[in-house]
Order: sequence, then structure tokens, then C-alpha cells
Amino acid sequence: MKWRGRQQSSNIEDRRGQGGGLGGLGGNPFGRGGGGGIRLPSGGGGSRGGISSLIGIVVVLGIIWFVTGQNPLDMLTGGGSPSSSSASSSSQLPTSGDQDELRDFVGVVVKETEDLWTDVFAQQNETYPAPTVVLFTGGVNTACGAADSSTGPFYCPGDQKVYIDLSFYDQLREQFGAPGDFAQAYVLAHEVGHHIQNITGVLPEFNQRRASMSTEQANAYSVRVELQADCYAGVWANYAGQQDLVESGDFEEALNAAEQIGDDTLQKRMQGFAVPKTFNHGTSAQRQTWFERGYTSGNPGDCDTFSGNV
Ligand SMILES: [Zn+2]
Repeated sequence: MKWRGRQQSSNIEDRRGQGGGLGGLGGNPFGRGGGGGIRLPSGGGGSRGGISSLIGIVVVLGIIWFVTGQNPLDMLTGGGSPSSSSASSSSQLPTSGDQDELRDFVGVVVKETEDLWTDVFAQQNETYPAPTVVLFTGGVNTACGAADSSTGPFYCPGDQKVYIDLSFYDQLREQFGAPGDFAQAYVLAHEVGHHIQNITGVLPEFNQRRASMSTEQANAYSVRVELQADCYAGVWANYAGQQDLVESGDFEEALNAAEQIGDDTLQKRMQGFAVPKTFNHGTSAQRQTWFERGYTSGNPGDCDTFSGNV
């Protein structure tokens, strides 16, 4: 990926080395007011927008819960702690030179997501409210509760921030077998995709409806939410190509990452077998398919994962 030397986002909050994450549930989990969502150019129907009530329920969406080995329990309700474990552990990595390079990398990728989504929203005569991306080490306090690095990257709708401990990228490469800067960019673009879903009403609706669902139903619904975020990541990858950021092999890196973090692949790796009814992010094939769909189309309107089969 040809990211060096490009402009960086100003919406990066660097909390590395600050610790945190212990008992910090003081944030207000109701950060987004009610009201209808913004509609993106739609390639499919659905009544995604217009959620009027999202009181009291907060969801954290991330990519992976990699220490416990369970596929991402990154969706939580009620503003509780995203992680049951103590956040007191220090980061595996110091704030090294490598991490500073990673920080610059994140800054560039986030800036490119801002440019993309600003364009998309402008087409609807809307202003894109860019999320803040928080870099942390060890643990962090969020409006969704305290989290630590084991949560993996996640998005908190309550404060509209994406959280990432940069050491996750080591794990992505080494534990999950998904090396490459474009794989790293995919993770960020996926989390920004959850932010888009928060703005458009998809996440609030999910939060509201899942409360009356069985676990199995909620998992199936969650898969659709996650696959849409993957599709949005693909749309971003398309945009990155237009900006001449993409090099040979980049697309394959992202596609490989999508495969490695598919529920079936993760579960087989962790426990030797997969239990489909527990899937909440989608299979490897599904994640690849939707990322590729977004990449091929470049249009978020083609990311309707809520109609028909996925
Ligand atoms: Zn996600």
C-alpha cells in the first residue's frame, strides 16, 4: 500500500501509554440522540433508517476477541464492560519507532476513509460526522465501558470512536496469519463501517431489535451487520484504488484477512470444529464475498446485507 507521505487524519486521539480501563464505566452510553438516520444511496430496500429509539442499549462492535478464542464477543449491551478481564496489563509493545510508523499509517487510512465517506454523504447533501480513532495500549475507558487489548479493535457508538491497540496488528499477522498493510487497513475500514451504520440507523435498530431476539436470532442478525461493515470496507478499498494507494497484492491481503477471521475458520482453529449457530460475524466465505462485493462495486448502496440470503 502506497500510504507514506500522504495526509493524515486530524481525528486521531493518541492515548498510548496512558493506561486506563479499570472500572471506568463513567461514560455516558447514550451519546447518540434519537432521530432518523441518514440514508445512503440505496441499492436495496429495507427500512433501515428512521430509528427513533435507541435508549439504553449500547453495542460494541469489533473484529475479534482473540485472547479468549471465542469469536468476537465484541457486541455487548447495557454499557457494561466490553471485557471481563482486568485491563491492568501493560502493553506488549512499547511506544516504539515501529508503533509510530503504525500511527502514521493509521492516520493516513483514517483520512482516506474520511474523504470517501465525506463524498458519499455529500451526494445526499449531508455532512459526514467523522469518528475519532483512539490509539491505546493495555486498557482504555470508553462510553461503552472499560476495554482492554484483548477485545481487539472495536467501535463504540456511545462516543462514536474507534478504539485500537496497535499491538493488534502483530496478532493479526502472527496469530491469525493475516499479514500486510492492506489487511491492517481493512480492519480500520471495517470499524469505520460500523460508524457509518451508527449514523445511518443500522446499529441503533440492531440494538433495539436484538433485545427481543433469541441468541441464535441475534447472532444471525449480527452476521448481517458485520458483513455490511465488511462490504463498506470493500467500498473503501475501491476508493483507495482510485486514490492510487493500492499496490499489487494488497487486495489479496485483505481477502486473506477476511478469510482468517471468518467464524468457521476461527472456531476450527481454536477448538477444532465450528458451531454455525454461534456465528456472529460470518463465515470466511461470506466475509470474503461481501468485502469483494464492496470492492468491485465501490458503491455503498450495493451493501444491503439485510435483504435475502447472505
Ligand atoms: Zn465488526
